[in-house]
Amino acid sequence: MFTGETHKCKKCGAYFLPFEHNLPCPQCGTPSTEFYDFVSEAATGLQIHKRDYGHYSAAGFFVGGLPEHIFLQLCNAFDEIQDHSDFPTALRRYLDGSDWGDQKYLSSHIYDIAVRVREKLAA
Ligand SMILES: [Zn+2]
Repeated sequence: MFTGETHKCKKCGAYFLPFEHNLPCPQCGTPSTEFYDFVSEAATGLQIHKRDYGHYSAAGFFVGGLPEHIFLQLCNAFDEIQDHSDFPTALRRYLDGSDWGDQKYLSSHIYDIAVRVREKLAA
């Protein structure tokens, strides 16, 4: 379902998805030289789930690489808070409630992606 690769920051080794051109690494801020339009793919995936299942999350969704992992987070987050009047605040609270271990930077990375995916879904 997802065509792009997980990007690894050349400087600090953090894994992320460069969903915009020159996206700064969410951990150290070094701009990425790669681009992967994950926002469009995730928005499409969410729309398909909503159409087929009536909600965003899908039971038994296979978790593979980082794109799948982040997509799963988006599915659950959107089911939980999509209709919240203050989406950014609810999203931040939702992500802060997860245990990120040593990948805390992924919380803000997913936040940035989710805000853009929501704009795309609303368009
Ligand atoms: Zn980095």
